[in-house]
Parts: sequence; structure tokens; C-alpha cells
Amino acid sequence: MNVTGGEMFDVAVVGLGPAGRALASRCAAAGLTVLALDPRPDAPWHQTLSVWADQVPPWLRPEACGIDVVAHRVSSPALYAPGRAVLQREYAVLDNDALRRALPLGPGVTVERETVDDADLRGLTARAHRVVDCRGAGGRLNRGPLQTAYGIVVDAADAAPALGGEAALFMDWRTDYAHGGSDDDDEIGPSFLYAIPLSADRVLLEETCLAGLPAPGPAVLASRLRSRLAGRGVSRAAIDEPLSVERVRIPLVPRPGGAGDPLVEAFGTAGGHGHAATGYSVAAMLEAVPAAVLALGAGYPLPEPRSPLSTTLHGVGLRALLRADDRTLRALFAAFGRLDGRRQRWFLDAASPSYQVAAAMWGMWLSMPVRDKAGMVAAVVRPSARRAVRAGGPARTLPPAPAG
Ligand SMILES: Cc1cc2nc3c(=O)[nH]c(=O)nc-3n(C[C@H](O)[C@H](O)[C@H](O)COP(=O)(O)OP(=O)(O)OC[C@H]3O[C@@H](n4cnc5c(N)ncnc54)[C@H](O)[C@@H]3O)c2cc1C
Repeated sequence: MNVTGGEMFDVAVVGLGPAGRALASRCAAAGLTVLALDPRPDAPWHQTLSVWADQVPPWLRPEACGIDVVAHRVSSPALYAPGRAVLQREYAVLDNDALRRALPLGPGVTVERETVDDADLRGLTARAHRVVDCRGAGGRLNRGPLQTAYGIVVDAADAAPALGGEAALFMDWRTDYAHGGSDDDDEIGPSFLYAIPLSADRVLLEETCLAGLPAPGPAVLASRLRSRLAGRGVSRAAIDEPLSVERVRIPLVPRPGGAGDPLVEAFGTAGGHGHAATGYSVAAMLEAVPAAVLALGAGYPLPEPRSPLSTTLHGVGLRALLRADDRTLRALFAAFGRLDGRRQRWFLDAASPSYQVAAAMWGMWLSMPVRDKAGMVAAVVRPSARRAVRAGGPARTLPPAPAG
């Protein structure tokens, strides 16, 4: 790509996923000149993006931007691990088209259709005072731990037996996917059902492996999902001919490396805004946008997504998720369900300060039975992740927890 050019921009934003688009749009709104580069800047976002409703930042609410970015809300989703708990928090599925409209790339943003490699990224410092890498967590090149899921969207009436009377299932760790005698359960480790209404008449039913290295592929998760749903009485027709299919592959830690130039910074999942133990990033990234815009305008470094200690604690959580056996993992989420709502937020919110993450993790630890505490200790000290034979190979020794 041509890294020289006439105009010197205030900011170059590389990658126009949710993070890059939000940053580019808000920088332009703040009066900065922005160069935005992405090979497919107009490509729609097909993934179902959800946040907790209270995480929609003030500047993105209808009263501020004139657009409602939430497609559907659901109150009090349930958690089964295997006992039932209810999360007293409203969950919101984003309307991706509305989100893009609320993040316009107006006249202040010059968009170029370019693929930018690391060398190009450094070269962009000749075209912009600040260069921000928003190219995501590395896609297929990221060889680290992944969250994977396979989901189908069905009519609400068809989904009703899967929900069993709940408004939504945030995590259903019950093992009824083994219905029908599947013999692969020990091989890929535990997974849970995520069942979220996308609108009044459509529901996403998704079998999810929270963390794997290697992570199970879509075929084995689809097989579990079909088995689970059929066992609950969802019709074969709805399972076999869904309205749409969703395949999830979320790198849980950023791609190592980076541009290797102090003048190039990173934002979004490239910059560590993802939560290593949940895979969510969008809420934390949106919350971080105003401070990032201020820093870019004022000439300060971009703020870190969270403290190094919080990142380390998330890394410990991820380590446990990757290594824990089924029983321990369920005990962990049962303990999460017993936390008060405030501590649940502290654990789930990717930008929580370290004392909040630590308090939430300590609360989970305290309420775990002794046998499961032993399982947690064994998981954290175990050198390798669970095996995931059908997912494509033996378990690998894990990289160290992400540094802050
Ligand atoms: C099915 C699915 C469901 C999900 N659900 C949720 C959810 O409910 N909540 C949540 O918080 N997260 C969810 N995620 C994760 C979420 O999608 C990502 O964390 C989020 O998209 C990351 O945003 P980003 O802008 O940092 O990176 P990305 O979305 O990866 O965007 C990166 C952008 O950079 C561009 N790019 C890549 N390489 C280059 C290059 N070399 N040069 C120039 N441009 C480049 C790409 O074209 C893309 O536009 C989900 C993911 C999937 C797949």
C-alpha cells in the first residue's frame, strides 16, 4: 500500500470492525481528521452482538444519538450449573445495522480499502500523527485459546421447549446434550446452551465451549446442540431447517506481537479490550471510546483497557476454564450464580478494576465445596488444557497468561 500521501491526518484507524468504526466515528465527531483503512469497510457484521443493557454507554443511547442500537432486551436470564440461578440484570442484543448508523463515517473520515500489514502500519506514521491498530484479535492467525459455538435461530414457538419457561438461558450447563448416548462428551469437555431471544419471534439457540485449546469445531458442537434440543422436545424440522446458523470463533487473548513501534497503538480486541474468560469485548470497548478519543486529541497515550492485575486475574480464570474437568467447571459457575449481582457484574465486566475482579473470584472460591476447590487448584496448576480429540489434535501446552 502507499504509505505516503499529501494530507497529514490526526489519526489513522486500521480496521473498521466495531472497535475501529466506533473510534473513527467518535474521533471525527470530536473534530479530528481520520484516515480509516479496511479491505472491506462496508462489510456487514453478521455476529449476534450482546451486552448487558446497562453497558450501552450514555453517548450511544437514543436520547444522545437519536438511534436505538438495541434490537431486543431480556430481563433476568437464567443460569443452570446444574442448579438454577437468575441473573438480575437486563441483557440486550444489539441491532448491528443501527449500531453502524449510530457510528457514521462522515466527512471527517477518509476511508481507504486497504489490507494493512505490520510494516504498513508503521509506515502510516508518515500519514497520521497517531496510528491505531483495530484489526481485531488476529482471526485465523491467532493460535491461542478460543471460544467456539454453533447456534441456530428458530421461531420463538419452536424454541419454547428448549427454554423450559425461562425468558433466556445465559448459560445452561446441564448435560442433557448426552441424550441419545453420544460418546464424545469426555473428549471435548463441557459446553453450555446459550438461548437468547433476538426479537419477539426469533430465538438463538447456541451450544458454546467457553474456552478450548484446541477448541471444539462447529460439527461436534452442532451434534451436541441437536441432541440437546431434540431431548427437550424441539421439533426435528426446527432443528434441521433453522432460520439461520451462527458459528462463533472468538480468540480469547490478542495475537502476540503487534507493530513493534511505540507510535502504533491498539484498540478493541487488538488492544486487549476482550475479556479473556468470557470472550466479550464490545461493551468494554464502547465504554473506552470517549477516553481514547480524548487521549488521541490531547496527545496522550491510549489508556490501558484495564490494570495489569485485572488482566492477570482474567488470565487465571481462563487458565482454570481451559483445564478444569466437567464437574469443577459446573461447580465454578454454580458459585458464580450464588454471587450477589454486584460481584457478578464485577467478574463479567471486562474493564473492572482488580479489587472488584479479585472480590468476585474470592466470593466464588469461598462458596465452592472443598472437593471442587481441590479441582480448581488442580486445574490451575495443570500444565495442559483438556484434550479435545475430535476438535483436531492433542491438547497443547498453554502460553502464559496475557500480560497487562
Ligand atoms: C458469532 C459471534 C458472536 C459474538 N458475540 C459477541 C457478543 O455477544 N458480545 C461481545 O462482546 N462479543 C461477541 N463476539 C466477539 C466480537 O464479535 C468481537 O470481539 C468484536 O467484533 C471485536 O471487534 P474488533 O473491532 O476489535 O475486531 P473485529 O470485529 O475482528 O474487526 C477487525 C476489523 O479489522 C479489519 N482487518 C483485519 N485485518 C486487517 C488488515 N490486515 N488490514 C486492514 N483491516 C483489517 C477487518 O476487516 C475488520 O473489519 C462475537 C463473535 C462472533 C464471531
